[in-house]
Amino acid sequence: MLFVAKPSKEVERLVWRSILPIIGGALAVATVMILIVTVFSNRFLLALIKIESLLKKTANGDLTAELEQEVQQREDELGDMGRYVVRMQRSLRDLIELDQLTGLYNRRYVQRKLELVQNKSIETGVPFSVAIGDIDFFKKVNDTYGHECGDAVLMDVSARMRELMKGRGFAARWGGEEFLLVFESYRLEMAADSLEDLLNVIRSRTIAFQGEKVKVTMTFGVVEGSGDRLDSIIGNADEKLYYGKNNGRNQVVR
Ligand code: GH3
Ligand code: MG
Ligand code: MG
Repeated sequence: MLFVAKPSKEVERLVWRSILPIIGGALAVATVMILIVTVFSNRFLLALIKIESLLKKTANGDLTAELEQEVQQREDELGDMGRYVVRMQRSLRDLIELDQLTGLYNRRYVQRKLELVQNKSIETGVPFSVAIGDIDFFKKVNDTYGHECGDAVLMDVSARMRELMKGRGFAARWGGEEFLLVFESYRLEMAADSLEDLLNVIRSRTIAFQGEKVKVTMTFGVVEGSGDRLDSIIGNADEKLYYGKNNGRNQVVR
């Protein structure tokens, strides 16, 4: 048997030479891993903080706060969570702003919207118009066909209003079978002509409900807005509506 002896220093050097690249490689991999984990956990944390901030604002009643698209577009659970908060915010907004039966704005919310329209009109000098509409002999619909059929008529008429007001302004349920329509940047004559079109659509419709066929007409009073108090502007539209009610209904009074 033959033994070849090497000095221990040389053996040590040889050992280190073969171990060092392994240690170096392992360190490099660990550094990259730490970097990746740090970047990802930072992004995760940042998204979480943004969702928490939106939740906090929503809980404090700010229903207009927004969540960054980047967070909403995440494809993980955090993205889901962000999208749920945005949906919750929208549902709350709908509950506060919309009439539950017709889906039109409710009375309280439209008053705020109308205030903004009036302020803008005062600022720019561009006029606006306001109308109040009421379904004619609506009580008779309820009495003849039942309350549910009355609801179906309200929904149908509201859908026609929403369609007509697209690009012109907005409609709201003002009360029972009464509606408020706000024409942004519309002079009286233009608004009244649009209402004539709407009335033509409504009076030519046959609303079907559980085998019954119902036809209704409406009366509208319309005025041009001004810087006056909003209740006085609406009061003027109301006066015109009641003039129409006392003079044959089924018309637009300007
Ligand atoms: P006019 O032409 O003078 O306006 O007569 P009208 O019968 O339409 O008016 P009136 O004020 O006498 O009756 C309104 C009816 O609307 C009475 C009320 O029961 C009904 N009404 C109010 N809100 C609702 C609702 O949400 N659903 C249904 N189905 N009926 C409603
Ligand atoms: Mg009525
Ligand atoms: Mg009424």
